[in-house]
Amino acid sequence: MATTPSDSDPETDDADRTDETADSALVTARRQLERAAAHVDVDEGVIERLKHPTRVEQVSVPLEREDGSVDVFTGYRAQHDDVRGPYKGGLRYHPAVTAQECIGLSMWMTWKCAVMDLPFGGGKGGIAVNPKSLTDDEHERLTRRFAEELRDIVGPTKDVPAPDMGTDAQTMAWFMDAYSMQQGETVPGVVTGKPPVIGGSYGREESPGRSTAIIAREAIDYYGRDLSGVTVAVQGFGSVGANAARLLDDWGATVVAVSDVNGAIYDPDGLDTHAVPTHEEEPEAVLEQDAPKTLSNEELFELDVDVLIPAAVGNVITEDNATDVRADIVIEGANGPTTFAADAILQERGVHVVPDILANAGGVTVSYFEWLQDINRRQWKPEEINEELENKMLSAWNDVREVVETKDLTWRDAAYVVALSRIAEAKAVRGLWP
Ligand code: NAD
Repeated sequence: MATTPSDSDPETDDADRTDETADSALVTARRQLERAAAHVDVDEGVIERLKHPTRVEQVSVPLEREDGSVDVFTGYRAQHDDVRGPYKGGLRYHPAVTAQECIGLSMWMTWKCAVMDLPFGGGKGGIAVNPKSLTDDEHERLTRRFAEELRDIVGPTKDVPAPDMGTDAQTMAWFMDAYSMQQGETVPGVVTGKPPVIGGSYGREESPGRSTAIIAREAIDYYGRDLSGVTVAVQGFGSVGANAARLLDDWGATVVAVSDVNGAIYDPDGLDTHAVPTHEEEPEAVLEQDAPKTLSNEELFELDVDVLIPAAVGNVITEDNATDVRADIVIEGANGPTTFAADAILQERGVHVVPDILANAGGVTVSYFEWLQDINRRQWKPEEINEELENKMLSAWNDVREVVETKDLTWRDAAYVVALSRIAEAKAVRGLWP
C-alpha cells in the first residue's frame, strides 16, 4: 500500500529521540533545501518536486513469535528522488520509526549521494519495532518477510537498502537471501553492507570514520595547521568516532579526549587511541581506561582543542552549549549533531563546521563501491577501497571548497549547494514527463 505523506507537523513525531531525528529530519532536510535554493539558479518547480518524496511504501509485516503468537509490525520505505540513479539508504529497526522520519532521512540521503557525486538518489526505511525484543530467529523471519513485502520496489537498479540503527550485516544477508530466493537467482546488489563472503565490501564498516578523518585532515590543512600540531576531541567511541580518532592519531594528530555515553577521558599529551576499546570491542568501557583526567560529555565540548568531532548521536551541540564550544573546527561524524540554532551561533562565532553529509559520507561511498563490485562480480582489495575512498573524498572536498570560496558560504551551505546543483541540472536535462 502506498501512502500519501501527510503534512502534519513532523517536529512532534520524534520529540523524545536523541539521534539525528530529534530535530526532525524532515524539517531539517526541507530547511536545508530552501537555504541552498537561495544560492542556486534553479527552477522553482524543481525545488517544489524535491520537497516531496517520489513514493512512501507502508507495509504490514506479520511475525510469528517464539511462543506461536503473531505480532504485526509496520514497515516503511521512503524513496525521495531517483533522478541520478537508484534510491539508496538504510533500513532501521527502532520503535520510533515513522513514515515522516523515513521521508526526512531519505531526503538527507539524496543530498549526501549528490554531494559525493554518486549515481544514487535518497531512500530510507525501516520497521517500527524494538530490535532488542526480538530473538535472532524472529529478527531473521521479520527481515525475510519485510524483504518480500518490499520486493517489487527494491532491486539493484531500483532501490538498494543498507544497514542502519538496529540492523547489521547479518540483517542484510537475510534480506539479500530472501530477495534472491524469490527472484530465482543470487542478487547481491539488492543491498549493501553485507558480509564480504556474499558480496560485501572490505572497509565498509570503518568507512564513515575514515571519511571523517580524511575530511578533518583536509580542513586542518585548509586552515593552515599542521596535523602534528593539532589537538582533537572526539565524542563517541563507536564505529565512526573510534575509527576517525585512531586514523587521526596514526597520522600524527594529538587526540586529547574521547568519550562514550558515560563520559570522557582526557590527556593533554595525547591518548593512545588504539588502547581504548571501541563500542564494539567492549561497550561503554572508555572511563575504565587509564588517563590523567575524566570529564563529562558536556566538558568535552568545552575543551580548548583545534578540532571537535561529535561522533555519537544527533542534536548534541545546541543553542545551550554552542557558545561554550572552544574548538576552531567542528567535523560532524554523527548525523545531525548540530541543531539549526547552534549552527547559527557557531557561524557567528567563526567556528568552521564541516557537515555530516560530507564528513561521514564514506559509508554510502563504500556502499557504492560494494554495489559496483556486486554488479561486476569482482571483489576489490582493501587497499583499492581505501585508495578509491580517498579519491572520492578529496574530489567532494574540493567541489565543496570551491563553492565555499566562490560564493562565500559556510561548509554546510556549500555542501548543499553542490548537491542541489547536481540534482537540479539532472532534472533540467531529463525534463518533466509527461
Ligand atoms: P556506535 O553505536 O558504534 O557508537 C556510538 C558511540 O557513542 C558509543 O561509544 C556510545 O557509548 C556513544 N554515545 C551514545 N550516546 C551518547 C551520548 N548521548 N553522549 C555521548 N556519547 C554517546 O555508533 P556509530 O555507528 O559510530 O554511529 C555514530 C553516529 O554516526 C550516529 O549519528 C550515526 O547515525 C552516524 N553514522 C554512522 C554510520 C555508520 O555506518 N556506522 C554512517 C554514517 C553516520
